[in-house]
Amino acid sequence: MSTKKNSSKPNIVKTFHIKTFGCQMNENDSEKISGMLKALGYQEETDVNKAGLVILNTCSIRENADERVLGNIGAFKTVKKTNPDLILAVCGCMMQQPEIVNQIVTKYPQVDLIFGTHNLHQVPELLNNYQVNGNRLIEVWEDSDTIVEDLPVDRKYPFKGFVTIMNGCNNFCTYCIVPYTRGREVSRQPDKIFDEVNKLVDDGCIEITLLGQNVNSYGNDLGDAVNFAKLLRELNTIDKLKRIRFMTSHPKDLTDDVIDAIAECDKVCNYIHLPIQSGSTRILKAMNRKYTQENILDRVNKIREKIPGVAITTDIIVGFPGETEADFLETLKVIKRCQFDSAFTFLYSIRTGTPAATMADQIPDEVKHDRINRSLKVLHQISHDINQTYQDQIVEVLVEETSRNNAKRMTGRTRTGKLVNFPGNESDIGTEIMVKITEAKTFSLDGEKIGQEGIHGATHTDDDAISANS
Ligand code: SF4
Repeated sequence: MSTKKNSSKPNIVKTFHIKTFGCQMNENDSEKISGMLKALGYQEETDVNKAGLVILNTCSIRENADERVLGNIGAFKTVKKTNPDLILAVCGCMMQQPEIVNQIVTKYPQVDLIFGTHNLHQVPELLNNYQVNGNRLIEVWEDSDTIVEDLPVDRKYPFKGFVTIMNGCNNFCTYCIVPYTRGREVSRQPDKIFDEVNKLVDDGCIEITLLGQNVNSYGNDLGDAVNFAKLLRELNTIDKLKRIRFMTSHPKDLTDDVIDAIAECDKVCNYIHLPIQSGSTRILKAMNRKYTQENILDRVNKIREKIPGVAITTDIIVGFPGETEADFLETLKVIKRCQFDSAFTFLYSIRTGTPAATMADQIPDEVKHDRINRSLKVLHQISHDINQTYQDQIVEVLVEETSRNNAKRMTGRTRTGKLVNFPGNESDIGTEIMVKITEAKTFSLDGEKIGQEGIHGATHTDDDAISANS
């Protein structure tokens, strides 16, 4: 759809800046948009005020995220006055909501291009059409049953990369907008995933993170020959690939076969993010999560039994409508039983358009804050205690970047996802280094480099650093 706003042809400045909000799926989408723009001859501009094209890749997981994005768009009204050639594009999950698009169309004339999550491959075409006459363009596909392959991807890191294995979600948790913004589950063909990973590895990548809203249901739409466990086992055979991670695992779909595959495959990191959201079976039912407290405990026991030294992290929502003190205490009980390494904790917030938004018995803010503080206290103590087990251990760290606070220190992650800081230099980035932990803190570990990966022999104790404790 095109709406008239400017009769003159815009002057094109071929520099771009992408601002990404939200999750890793959005980050991976932004890498694809960046790849397409670079293929068109655009250059990345780090200063948003100097770019000829600014793209806001939006997230709508929470209502205040929408407000943040609208605030960002609002600020471009002034920028456009001084830089009328600036092209402002907005894409991502928020654009899949027609009421948001209507709001932008009526209140934010500074926006030139709007596209959605299902048609980001159209960026070159949209830009080209916009450049013809300067008319605002809106192109949002409601859903899609295919994944466009072979888009150029401009990776942020050369040594690690995201690989989307599926799009969408079929679960309709009552608090979540994702099934409405990302559509139904569509899995990529395994050979396409293989091609992408092989290419990444050929380019020097040693760690991949497989992405999907619910990776455990990968392949459900592709027939019996394909599933997530098989995919992990196949990817594990790729030479030179060293680490395989994945996000995110819905507890209801985490089968014994997937747990076995993680345990068997030496390249699959001993780390699982398992978002439980609540420990109360009653609240889990109201959330439409389709599992119970017993199911959570059973899965966590199974994971710890099969994968020694595994780290498990989670997501918790406190203050879901109708959550009583007794329900909350069930969540605390499950947190203690599961001994999560860490957790992302959220205050429930109303997300318009979801069933939970209109549920009776919304919880007052002060109760939510009290509960989140109490859950953080328990979680932080567990994180601290688990991290203490790393003291004096030697761990394998994939070095990712220079520490933000100290240019002489490097930062990276263990296979269990622990953040490790140690004195080093930039040449360490992208390599696996053996580090002895000298100080275990609640949220990170400090250490000293003792050598490159491959010399660890019997001293490599990363897998043994945490004892089974669920
Ligand atoms: S599984 Fe639930 S929370 Fe996760 S994306 Fe799907 S609907 Fe949202």
